[in-house]
Order: sequence, then structure tokens, then C-alpha cells
Amino acid sequence: MTATEYEAVPAVAPAASPARAGTIVMKFGGTSVGDPDKIRAVARRIAGARERGSRVVAVLSAMGQTTDELVALAHRVSARPKPRELDMLISVGERISCALAAMAIHDLGLEAISLTGSQAGIVTDTVHGRAKIVDVRARRIHEALDRGQIVLVAGFQGVSTNYDITTLGRGGSDTTAVAIAAALGAESCDIYTDVDGVFTADPRLVPAARKLTRLTYDEMLELAASGARVLQLRSVEFARNHHVTLHVRSTFTDAEGTWIREEDEQMLEKAIISGVTHTTEETVYRLEGISAAALFTALAEASVNVDTIIQTSAEIVFSAPAEERPEVESVLERLGVRWSARDDLGKVSLIGAGMKSHPGIAAKTFATLDAEGIPVQVVTTSPIKIACHVPSELVGRAVRALHEAFELETVVD
Ligand code: ASP
Ligand code: MG
Repeated sequence: MTATEYEAVPAVAPAASPARAGTIVMKFGGTSVGDPDKIRAVARRIAGARERGSRVVAVLSAMGQTTDELVALAHRVSARPKPRELDMLISVGERISCALAAMAIHDLGLEAISLTGSQAGIVTDTVHGRAKIVDVRARRIHEALDRGQIVLVAGFQGVSTNYDITTLGRGGSDTTAVAIAAALGAESCDIYTDVDGVFTADPRLVPAARKLTRLTYDEMLELAASGARVLQLRSVEFARNHHVTLHVRSTFTDAEGTWIREEDEQMLEKAIISGVTHTTEETVYRLEGISAAALFTALAEASVNVDTIIQTSAEIVFSAPAEERPEVESVLERLGVRWSARDDLGKVSLIGAGMKSHPGIAAKTFATLDAEGIPVQVVTTSPIKIACHVPSELVGRAVRALHEAFELETVVD
């Protein structure tokens, strides 16, 4: 018997749900629910919001390193677990957090119910391990909220259109939260995490890095796509497409965090550059003997997140996250092309909505890296980003040099 017989998606999806005032979605990351004391603290925070009168949906991640441990466990049993079974296994972490939080909320004298992604009506496509949400059938959430219950939804998972349990990719609980906020018409989605917000750079590399008070969706998309780990990229896309304001803030304080929303007048006056992100490893592939159309179609079908693409005559150069190398390799082998890869490069990206209207940022970026003796191997730009692949061991230095050159520690946003 399959799990979906118990967790059937309601057959009739409600029409587009009307916005209901006072609905809030709170998402708590793995560190925030890392042990029983923290789960009780999160329960108090959720209960506090309910007591102030809101209809509350909380989306939780798995406790601490649970997801990593479950993945490792699978690999101790089998070298090549099937993605379907892996999803069945790793979706468990979030259920644990939600059930425990519901118990803690009950002990505070409030009503709460935990739901799996599937029970909550999160319907996805059939791509195991990296599923996309295609629909949120929020009827069951609405019913529980109408009964006055706090609803705890297991993040990171859904049920596919084939009735299998799927997961949404690492960090996917963010996307669960945003999708639910959009479906419920919640005005904003609070992302509670172990840092105070989104920073101008990784504070571990740049101690003078500053918390940003606001960002546009496009800036946050570029930040998330280029190494900022605070939000899953897809959650930002979802927020932008559905106009969900995001507030990234600390679980452990009441301080304001970083607001992410549409660009407006106020936003236009902010600093030219918002942040410097980095990845220490991003594989750069070089190949010949195939058309760009055929290559990138095959990579897209394998759900590879291609970043930089450069084509000069017959040669194609592209980059992709280091962890997606197995997928890329199998696509390239299948296509039978001659290829090579470099895995000694990382990437530094400078991001800011103000770049659109200020020339000279690229020149200053190159001059800064040049003065540090940092060779730039590949460059990619968008209207609000300049990204440079540099040797992995020089990534830290490059981030610090750019943060200083653009005075990100002092500029007020
Ligand atoms: N637990 C999952 C992960 O570690 C999903 C999440 O935390 O958002 O990636
Ligand atoms: Mg996360």
C-alpha cells in the first residue's frame, strides 16, 4: 500500500484562494529547531503570533543536520539509491520537526496540527530530489486555520502528480513557505534563521560585513544564485512571481532582518552595490563538437543549473555547481562530445540594482582584482551583476578586496 492512500491530495482544488487578512507564514530553518529546547522556543514564538490574533502557518526544516545524516544513511545501505526511495527517506526529517513542534505547542495550551507536505496539498512535478511545486491545494490548511489551529507544515516536500513523495532540493523548505504564503494570500513570509538577515558578504570572510535592511527580488535572486546560502533560489523566484514580501530574520532575537520586495522609489535611492557573494568551487566545462541548442537542451532535461555560458566559434564554455558534476558528466558522455572540466575555480559576484544606472563598476572590479594579483578566468554579467571566476584559493581575498573597494562596510542602504 502506498503512502498516498493515506495522504491523498484533495480531489477538488479550491478556486484561487481569497486573500485573508491576518494570515502569517513563519518558516524556521534547521538550526532554529536543532534540539528539543530550541523546538520549545520556536513553539513559544509561534504561539505568541497566534495569541496576537494571527492565523498562523509555520513551515519547519529538519532538525540540525538530519537531512545530511539521512542522505549518508542511504549511502551506507546502497551505493546508488533510487531517487524515489531517497525522497521517501529524506522527507522524514521535516515531519519529525513538525510533530515535535505540535506537541510543544499543545503543552502551551494551544491547538496545533502537523501536516506532511502532501497532506498540506503541496503538489509537485515528478523530478525526484529537485521537484518543482506545480500547485498548492490549501483546502486542508484553510480548514485547520478556520478551526483556530496553528498549522505546522513539513517543508522541503510534496506529492508528485504521480502520487509519489518528492523533495524540493536542498534548502527547499524556504520554497514550501513562500508557496504557502502565496496560496494563502499572506502579506509576507517570515524566514527565521540563525543569522540576522542578508549580509553584504559572508561575515566569516569579511568581519565588517553589514546586515542589509532591504533588497529587491532581482538582487536577492542574483545573491541566492551566486552563493548566498540564506534562501533557496527557487523560493525567491516564487516570491517575485507571486508578490510575496520576504522578511529574513533571526530566530533568536526580535530584531528586524532584511526585507525583500519589489523595487520602488525608496529602493532606487539605495547603494549602488548591495553585496559580494562567492562560491569556492564551481566547475567550468569546455567542449566542442555540438550545437549550443543540443547541449543546453540535454543539460536542461537533466535539470542541471547552468550558470555562465560563453561561446566562441566552435568552443562552448559553461559552468555549473560542483555538486551537479555527476549529472553533467553523464549528459556529456551520452552526447559523445570531447570535453574537459576545471574544478580549481570559484566565483566572486558583485551585485546591486544601482549598477543599471552607474557605468564603471566593471572597470573598478577588474582594477581591484588586478591590484590584488588575482587572475580572472571567466567573466559573466547581468544588468545588476558582475561575476568573475577566479582560482578557488583566492576567492576569500577577492571578496575582501571588492567589499573594501566598494565601501560596503559603511554604505547605508
Ligand atoms: N532539510 C532540507 C535541507 O537540509 C530542507 C531545508 O532545510 O530547507 O536541505
Ligand atoms: Mg536553508
